[in-house]
Amino acid sequence: MTEYEQAFANWLGVDHAYGFWKGRVALYAILRGLGIGDGDEIVLPGYTCAMAVNPIIYLGAKPIFVDIEPETYNIDPNQIESKITPRTKLIIAQHTYGYPADMDAIASIAQRRGLLLVEDCCLALGSRYDGRLTGTQGVAAYFSFQWNKTYTSGLGGMAVAHRPELATRLRELQSESICPTTGEVMMLRLQLAIHRALIYPRTTALGQSVFRVLSKSGLALGSSSREEYAPRMAEGFFKRMSDSQARSGIRQLRKLDENIAHRRRMTRAYDELLQEHGWPPPQLSARLNPALSRYPVRVADKKRLLGTAWRHLLELGSWFESPIHHAAETSMEAYGYQAGMCPEAERASREVINLPVHPRTNEATARRTVAMITRIGPAERPEATGK
Ligand SMILES: *Cc1c(COP(=O)(O)O)cnc(C)c1O
Repeated sequence: MTEYEQAFANWLGVDHAYGFWKGRVALYAILRGLGIGDGDEIVLPGYTCAMAVNPIIYLGAKPIFVDIEPETYNIDPNQIESKITPRTKLIIAQHTYGYPADMDAIASIAQRRGLLLVEDCCLALGSRYDGRLTGTQGVAAYFSFQWNKTYTSGLGGMAVAHRPELATRLRELQSESICPTTGEVMMLRLQLAIHRALIYPRTTALGQSVFRVLSKSGLALGSSSREEYAPRMAEGFFKRMSDSQARSGIRQLRKLDENIAHRRRMTRAYDELLQEHGWPPPQLSARLNPALSRYPVRVADKKRLLGTAWRHLLELGSWFESPIHHAAETSMEAYGYQAGMCPEAERASREVINLPVHPRTNEATARRTVAMITRIGPAERPEATGK
């Protein structure tokens, strides 16, 4: 393992970590390392990003979408078993926004039904479930260091393995993977510098839009190239992490504890501010101690609110905008998702916006943001599932 991989593994308290170009590439490596292939079925929440589903499809496997719990936006364990067939091999527990998924319930299903369990920790670095860090259960986990995540090294992904034989496979796969080109690395470093300059709360809504337009038009290397919006593996997808990402990651890792503490302070601030406006914060199980990557809120008129935020230069996020965020309407079928499959996820896609909690946010912007969103009004509370 490299110095960064070792430092990351140490921070998490695990034995094996391997760096890749992006989080999705780390997932692809894990699935390949576990021998996932043609016709295998993989259970995951129907409230996710196309980039987290594509690696499944690249390998000829089939994503099986399960609806979410309205409070945590995570896979509803009570709906998993009815989706399991003799072809099911693996469950992906995604910790949405940073709320830990119900790991005890999911792990017990996996164990009882002989399924592998992989954690998607891309939004949940530092979150805890019953005191245990997310990313330390099941057979493997993956993390992302893309722009919107807990910390960023531009792009970046880490695969961690809890079984020595999987670790060996990941190491082999990593050595077979492509090295990023000098051009790609230089582009990434330039963008990282621009990103660091733009991510101040007041300019970032504008900055992010500029960034997205540049990367979609192929002028800059954003988190997803145009080919990645389609469920076909593009040439050059399977890349390892560059040294430049690793150096940046090491620097971010040193600040991680303070970063997480800030996220928890901001989360409490939003809870309190929303409460002051009569919007009760989510009722979470005491077992969950999230380190949020973004703070989700359900609003009555998401579209109008996002339009307003743009004018106020407030940094609101709107993912996930569909059960498979970023999948074109026309390709939902290629992903095997049919409208109505996951009603809670579809409802969350219509209602939820997310607020920044990153280290450059502060209570003053939180106050302005909450004042603005509460002018629009909350969404009706979903029925609690009684947890
Ligand atoms: C960001 C993200 C990914 C993919 O990470 P990349 O580094 O962009 O490939 C996967 N799953 C979830 C939940 C994410 O938020």
